[in-house]
Amino acid sequence: LREWDNAHVWHPFAPMSAYVEECAPIITSADGFDLIDTDGRRYLDGISSLWCNVHGHRVPDVDTAIRTQLDRVAHSTLLGLSSDVSIQLAKMLVDRTPENLTKVFYSDSGSTAVEVALKLAYQYHHQKKNPEPQRDTFLCVGHAYHGDTIGSVSVGSIDLFHRVYKHMLFPTVSVPSPTATRVMDGHTKESWLQHCFDQVEVAIKANSDRAAGFVIEPIVQGAAGILVHPPGYLRHVRDICTQYNIPLIADEVAVGFGRTGTMFACEQEGVQPDFMCLAKGISGGYLPLAATMTTEEIFAAFLGAPSESRTFFHGHTYTGNSLACAAAIASLELFEANDLLTHIAHNEALMREKLSTLADHPHVGEVRQKGIMVGIELVQDRTTMEPLSAERRVGHQVTLAGRKRGIMIRPLGDVVILMPAPGMPSELVSRLCDETIASINEVTSSHA
Ligand code: PMP
Repeated sequence: LREWDNAHVWHPFAPMSAYVEECAPIITSADGFDLIDTDGRRYLDGISSLWCNVHGHRVPDVDTAIRTQLDRVAHSTLLGLSSDVSIQLAKMLVDRTPENLTKVFYSDSGSTAVEVALKLAYQYHHQKKNPEPQRDTFLCVGHAYHGDTIGSVSVGSIDLFHRVYKHMLFPTVSVPSPTATRVMDGHTKESWLQHCFDQVEVAIKANSDRAAGFVIEPIVQGAAGILVHPPGYLRHVRDICTQYNIPLIADEVAVGFGRTGTMFACEQEGVQPDFMCLAKGISGGYLPLAATMTTEEIFAAFLGAPSESRTFFHGHTYTGNSLACAAAIASLELFEANDLLTHIAHNEALMREKLSTLADHPHVGEVRQKGIMVGIELVQDRTTMEPLSAERRVGHQVTLAGRKRGIMIRPLGDVVILMPAPGMPSELVSRLCDETIASINEVTSSHA
């Protein structure tokens, strides 16, 4: 398997060095919150299998729901047909998301959930025959990550992922992230915040006749390294978008399904977006599924459009797959039966307390946390916040040290991310924190 993996499998986002110097574990099974490799080694899944796992692996209720569905039908299509499970899930999502969201468009990944929102927003203005010029620009937030398709990269702002494709991307206007305090351009922290709040209106006003939508990761920018927005920022963006009649696209792909402490992050500031993108945790982390939710108003614009542009030209073969919908229904039911929001609040406090021991660590610049999403930023010097040299790949070294200790974590650069599943028992969350701290200590002391 190792030989064939190296010879044939091109891994996503893998630096080419990984093919020569690394031997990533080959996972063959799982047990609860552990992943198990070909050598029988167990790793506590500290990143929820890329931020999507909710209740652990091989969860009896979800497994049974999938098996039951398998005995009925694994997949048909939503193009020209419907399915009982996709309808039931749509109703459950509508009942749980902000009340203005009544329509569900299924797709199969977080990137496509965002892509669908972008195309819908663009076409919505087209249908409404808004005055020229055509609304072809999206507003977005600095440091954002919204996926890896061309549309979702266009509205993303992580330079590393952007750079190579820049000539393929469509125009966007990005406002500075209020949490990116490293690029304060001579501001104090307070004046930087004010500047970022002000820039929302400046950018929207300057583009009010050509902006198709404003895209934001509500409350937490995940892939940027768990940047937590200041209170009131999301509300502010919503208010200015409303004032200038710009649809708000909330990308809840990472933050949805409890990770910030509420079922959806928009709830924290009572915000009703015009589009909400859901993926990752929607199926409990079992099967590829995504949903873009929107309003009656957006739907009505398509319904009332001239016949040639009534259709929304989008839909993948496996859109709304029945097995995935069955898993999603079971996962949502279990989430509520187990009162996971209360459990998350407990684990949030536990992680905060455990990780507070890193406050004086010479190589920990910042521990950022919202709900059960945590980013531990490693630096050369905590007083100056001087970064570690990139060649040393210290974040990566911490991951390798973690593996030896039986935990699976994955850094974003030199930010070590902890993303326990919402249902992970507290004693395992506690162990995850302890082993992470030990891994950081081990690597940074040998690099001092
Ligand atoms: N949006 C956000 C906020 C994300 O964090 C991610 C994935 N990390 C995506 C979109 C893309 O999701 P996927 O990888 O399922 O395409």
